[in-house]
Amino acid sequence: MLDIKITKTDDPGIKPEKIESFGRIFTDHMFIMEYDEGIGWHDPRIEPYHPISLDPSAMIFHYGQSMFEGCKAYRGEDDKIYMFRLERNAERANITNDRLCIPRIPEEDFIQAVEAVVNVDRDWVPKEEGTSLYVRPFVIATEEALGVHASARYLFMVIMSPSGAYYASGLKPVDIWIEDDYVRAVRGGMGFTKTGGNYAASLAAQEKAYKAGYSQVLWLDGVERKYIEEVGAMNIFFKIDGKIVTPMLNGSILSGITRNSTIELCKSWGMDVEERKISVEELIEAAKSGKLEECFGTGTAAVISPVGKLRFEDDVMEIGGGEIGPVSQKLYDTITGIQYGRLPDPMGWRIEIK
Ligand SMILES: *Cc1c(COP(=O)(O)O)cnc(C)c1O
Repeated sequence: MLDIKITKTDDPGIKPEKIESFGRIFTDHMFIMEYDEGIGWHDPRIEPYHPISLDPSAMIFHYGQSMFEGCKAYRGEDDKIYMFRLERNAERANITNDRLCIPRIPEEDFIQAVEAVVNVDRDWVPKEEGTSLYVRPFVIATEEALGVHASARYLFMVIMSPSGAYYASGLKPVDIWIEDDYVRAVRGGMGFTKTGGNYAASLAAQEKAYKAGYSQVLWLDGVERKYIEEVGAMNIFFKIDGKIVTPMLNGSILSGITRNSTIELCKSWGMDVEERKISVEELIEAAKSGKLEECFGTGTAAVISPVGKLRFEDDVMEIGGGEIGPVSQKLYDTITGIQYGRLPDPMGWRIEIK
């Protein structure tokens, strides 16, 4: 158990009436604790949200040792505050930490820190349909040194930002660009972790896709450039000839919590679910023969994001005629129903923050 010291602000911020953009407004408080080699994690505390000061030689600025997570707090119609499968974020944080040589955070401490800071700022969890409080736990390396080695000092922080309804005007299908030049990650690298460098590596392709009129990038494997991996910050699913198919976890894609929930729900509904390699040719063939029935991304931000169009070089695959497919809709309704406390929770995924 962490002994968290709580200092509350005497100058609370103004909560937005309407949340216009993602991740630009922060709540009144933050969690912070430090790590020093030989001491371990220490001084856990919740303080008024504030900027931090770092030496220009802090290792995070030079060698990128970082871990981040993303999860949400939801306000139910009963005014209770819920979170979803938080123990999975705690586990995944340590998968990232291990790969990046960052010291582990005991899972129960991670969970306790997140729950405590959400609870302090629980009034910041918005009420409107589809809104939530986005929670960003993260670690950075802070040792002041330019030699390349694992840092001896770190900061673990949790900050929070109210998040608007992702789909203000219903579940609109997105258009996706399958990237054939840049790659995001390779097996043996850090593609399976949540770390800043993976995002830095993705920006050039993202800009290319935007310019061509597509909103997100779908990555291919870094070796053969042939097999589907994942979208920017979402895992990807297809419904091909009645079966649910998603790329297997192979070391270069992120193991999404929404991905896992989608697989478990589909199996519980008696659907065939395949985790395997899917080549881009297979998709093009399936689209041509009318067997590509649905395509959707999964992730904490959008939950389920239907895909209306996939482009690979000269092939443009149109899916679902601009509409969300029935499996995508059922998954969206079920997962959000569990998250907001509208539906029963047979899987035990929902936790109440009190
Ligand atoms: C966070 C993330 C996802 C989605 O994971 P969830 O746990 O479902 O939010 C997928 N891909 C990448 C690269 C990510 O960073």
